[in-house]
Amino acid sequence: MPVTDIQEAATRWPEGYRSCVALAFDLDGPTGDAMLDGSIWSNPAYFTLGSYGPWRALARLLDMLDERHVPATFFVPAWVVENWPEQCAAIVARGHEIGYHGYKHEAFWTLDADGQRAVMERSAQVFDKYLGIRPVGFRTPSGDWGPDTIRVLMEAGVRYSSSMRGDDRPYLLPAPGMAEPMVEIPGRWEMDDYASLAYHRNPNFPASLDRIASYDTTLDNWRREFDGSHRDGLCLTTLFHPKVSGKPGRVALLESLIDHMHAQGGVWFATCRDVAQWWRDNHGDANVDTNGDTHASPTPQEAPR
Ligand SMILES: [Zn+2]
Repeated sequence: MPVTDIQEAATRWPEGYRSCVALAFDLDGPTGDAMLDGSIWSNPAYFTLGSYGPWRALARLLDMLDERHVPATFFVPAWVVENWPEQCAAIVARGHEIGYHGYKHEAFWTLDADGQRAVMERSAQVFDKYLGIRPVGFRTPSGDWGPDTIRVLMEAGVRYSSSMRGDDRPYLLPAPGMAEPMVEIPGRWEMDDYASLAYHRNPNFPASLDRIASYDTTLDNWRREFDGSHRDGLCLTTLFHPKVSGKPGRVALLESLIDHMHAQGGVWFATCRDVAQWWRDNHGDANVDTNGDTHASPTPQEAPR
């Protein structure tokens, strides 16, 4: 562990917690490229692969989180809220957070500023109409950010993002022309369930993954990532998807992972919203990226699903 981490870790999190876990799920449903290009309407099996998430897997995950008294954040395309409003309302009713994730999982970097604003405004209207909420968090759907994205997000009321990869702690992204920076809670592909568990034929997706990884190995990977994060007093978030890891055999993996985390003691389980607020209040000037070429630079090759 870097010396600075040893010094900082003792005061990094509230109430003497050693590390932070911000469980997060992307409730994509059937949104994404195939919906955006219309091809999903001639591929009903692929549609149901996605709809399984809000329709079936979500409730199982919510029960699991209740049993373990763990809060989570769900990044939800607004189209999913329009089509499964009762299921999405349960996320809020059971004390979890909902964040923005596009309307139909748009690639923001392909849209101009007005196009991005339209997605954010439509999403905000849907969240207000169906759920009575105004999210403050955002996770990038397909693709990455354009040069206007951070300003568009902050003008829409977004105060934190979980889209980048630049640290294993939260950090601050300067927003040109805005009074305050945005808090970034970076994720990592190691904690993305697509990397080990997603599998679908026709379309072959993910294209490079032609087998499902061993569940034991997958759990071992996730545990080791947590162990390192906990040892060094860092922040671990996840890029899990209900349609991938909310299935009966896989929710057991998540149960084992969370039980392992609980067993270590000293873990602050929090929503991304609470983590971002804590970081802004307590580390607001600790790691601002002032030179603009490390944390802040968009990398078009990297983005969450
Ligand atoms: Zn997504």
